[in-house]
Amino acid sequence: MKVLVINCGSSSLKYQVLEMETEELLCKGLVERIGIDGSVIKHEKIGMDKWVLETPMKDHKDAIGHVLNALTDPEHGVAKSMDEIGAVGHRVVHAGEKYAGSVLITDDVIKALEECIDLAPLHNPANLQGIAACKALMPNTPMVGVFDTAFHQTMPAESYLYALPYEYYTKYGVRRYGFHGTSHRYVSLKAAEMLGKKPEDLKIITCHLGNGASLAAVCGGKVFDTSMGFTPVAGLVMGTRCGDIDPAILGYVAAKEGKDLAAMDKVINKESGVYGLSGVSSDFRDVENAANEGNEQAATALKVYAHRVKSYIGAYMAEMNGCDAIVFTAGLGENGITMRKAICENLENLGIELCDERNNVRGKDTVISKDSSKVKILLIPTNEELMIAKDTYEIVTGK
Ligand code: ADP
Repeated sequence: MKVLVINCGSSSLKYQVLEMETEELLCKGLVERIGIDGSVIKHEKIGMDKWVLETPMKDHKDAIGHVLNALTDPEHGVAKSMDEIGAVGHRVVHAGEKYAGSVLITDDVIKALEECIDLAPLHNPANLQGIAACKALMPNTPMVGVFDTAFHQTMPAESYLYALPYEYYTKYGVRRYGFHGTSHRYVSLKAAEMLGKKPEDLKIITCHLGNGASLAAVCGGKVFDTSMGFTPVAGLVMGTRCGDIDPAILGYVAAKEGKDLAAMDKVINKESGVYGLSGVSSDFRDVENAANEGNEQAATALKVYAHRVKSYIGAYMAEMNGCDAIVFTAGLGENGITMRKAICENLENLGIELCDERNNVRGKDTVISKDSSKVKILLIPTNEELMIAKDTYEIVTGK
């Protein structure tokens, strides 16, 4: 069966088609500038050059119409007709406390996701538009929702509650939800496979270090804790997000700078992180280059970043009473050789020993710890689309 995976943003849309019997990627693509001038679809059938088509697309339905045309194109397509696409898997950011796993999309599910818009105002509306567009254009194809928050729903109250008045939780759903769940699940399952053990028998710390970044403590296959919170701004230092700060700073700086809460929200989301700290860039490659050229502020920003990841690793080892493996994934986790080294440095007493030679690698499934390391350190490129496609296939076929 061929499965179409859709990841809808507010003005963009990423897609892939996978052949599930072999888990082979058949094609992938990106639609940009939906609803604005210069709409474009960039489609790539694996093994062929990219096919770029600029054509007006007023909304997500238009965009998905063009995706479906590309999928059935005689030259660039991967199916003779849409009937060959057996199911669609949708990435949805927020399912609140409603779903702890992927589900077949029904009218009730759509209603539940609409109720979560308040919690993810930038993401859920776009995800829902993608679902509505597919429903209109492929009314007989089953669809599955795969949620960024779902994997984290196993967290116990001591991990997800904030020490605020309890009624904020009961009335407004103020709690830690966590994000990147599909990635944390994919790499923790892959780690178990690589270590030849069952997920139930392992304690794993998964480090998803991309533009957005989060850690998860996965104990016996279930998330015990994660670093992102009520929103994806919490936890680690990120490209432009601040991660954990003293909450009193917001009011203090707002008063000093004459800013309101919306302006402070922009500061913590878009002007902070390594970008704000280094004054150079949100891209780690630029910050690393600047640090190598002697920019001390950039070097300090990288130290703050590594320090924060390290402190979470320590916290999660304490929470799980140890750890069998640490996994690095996403842009920086998969490529940042010096950052991985900085994070793992001086942790020998915790049984964490990185092998410099094995660490000199990018973007492949591999073990990068020394043989003597009690805690195995793994590098696993994430593949959220494959995880979404697998869930979709399993739910639709019952296999
Ligand atoms: P997103 O959260 O946007 O999906 P990615 O997982 O693609 O992000 O990660 C993007 C980040 O990965 C970039 O900002 C960049 O800083 C970092 N990165 C990518 N390649 C390298 C590299 N070779 N060395 C260091 N950092 C890298």
